[in-house]
Amino acid sequence: MTTTPGNPPQTTAEPRATVLNVNDHAATRYMVSRMLEMAGYQVLEASTGYEALAIAPQRPDLVLLDVEMPDIDGYEVCRRLRGSEETQDLLIAHLSAVSITREDRIRGLAFGADAYWTTPLEEEELLANIEALLRLQRRAQDAIRVRDEFLSVAAHELRTPLTALRLNLERARLLTTRSAPKENLDKGLSAALRQLSRLQQLLDTLLDVSRVANRRLKLEVGTVDLVDAAREIAQRFEPAARAGGVDLQLQLPDTPVVLFGDRLRLEQVLNNLLANALKYGDGKPVRLCVEERDDMAALRVSDNGIGIAPEDQSRIFERFERATNTEQSGSLGLGLYIAKEIVSAHGGSITVDSQPGQGATFQVLLPLRRTEQY
Ligand code: ADP
Repeated sequence: MTTTPGNPPQTTAEPRATVLNVNDHAATRYMVSRMLEMAGYQVLEASTGYEALAIAPQRPDLVLLDVEMPDIDGYEVCRRLRGSEETQDLLIAHLSAVSITREDRIRGLAFGADAYWTTPLEEEELLANIEALLRLQRRAQDAIRVRDEFLSVAAHELRTPLTALRLNLERARLLTTRSAPKENLDKGLSAALRQLSRLQQLLDTLLDVSRVANRRLKLEVGTVDLVDAAREIAQRFEPAARAGGVDLQLQLPDTPVVLFGDRLRLEQVLNNLLANALKYGDGKPVRLCVEERDDMAALRVSDNGIGIAPEDQSRIFERFERATNTEQSGSLGLGLYIAKEIVSAHGGSITVDSQPGQGATFQVLLPLRRTEQY
């Protein structure tokens, strides 16, 4: 590694995680702590079971717990940690001498430890085990965070049309009792129906997600002309594009591009991509293009809007994920996930090419005229 002058190496890096190292054997405790510190961990130390219980409420990321200790043994410490609300979810790994029996190990895990490692362990192996355990936990925490965030966004999204629907219906009721002009009543009820459609759309999306997640997405396969499908979806978007002053450009070949697939599901892919292009396209022109390339049908939706940062580009295809620059817009982060699952169920792929502030191009590649059964 080279260091440029005036750009000193970082010495105050954040610790990787905090580990509580519990061991009554001073020399072993010292060795393990040094090893952890050298690897970039912050270390808390305890030399007895009771001390460990006193320090644990500081919530280290991992408790490395010696099994044999003079006051209360590691199993009991673990049991008590699990029994207290403050510490019940801490990550706990037993570290014990190799003389330990299989039964001991089973007992340790049954008492609630997340891992059971026997020493002597090579330094590298111990560090690798720690890293793997922390990674697993981080992944679970991330999944919970993303889900919680999604639930609050979804609840908010559902409440918006519901509130409007309620207002419109209340107004309509008032109008009927006052025998107001029929047009006013009509207007209110049409708005209510629009809000109802929006609610239905949202619920359909949620249902789709659970179907896709449980691998229960059934394809109704037939011959699909992608050019025709693209033309139809573009027509459906025309009013929304016009209302937003967006120039929706179509670039379609004169001949059909035919494949075997589920027309409604492929339309859903187009729909989700176009909806995003309008939503994030900054009011600038949006282009929809279909073409045949080698053995593939290529479908591209391009906009000239806010674009997507490179670090967000793979994440946005995952469930509930939204790019950082759009988190406030109240979107669910599901459209691309559903699109990706539909495309891969057709044996195809979906990719994005984008730079922040320079728009985005989503490309779907689908095998032409597949004959296999889905
Ligand atoms: P939603 O738009 O409902 O949040 P999607 O799964 O369709 O869900 O999109 C996920 C995220 O990807 C969006 O929240 C947005 O951050 C980003 N994104 C999708 N399409 C575009 C686009 N054309 N331009 C910029 N960002 C986009």
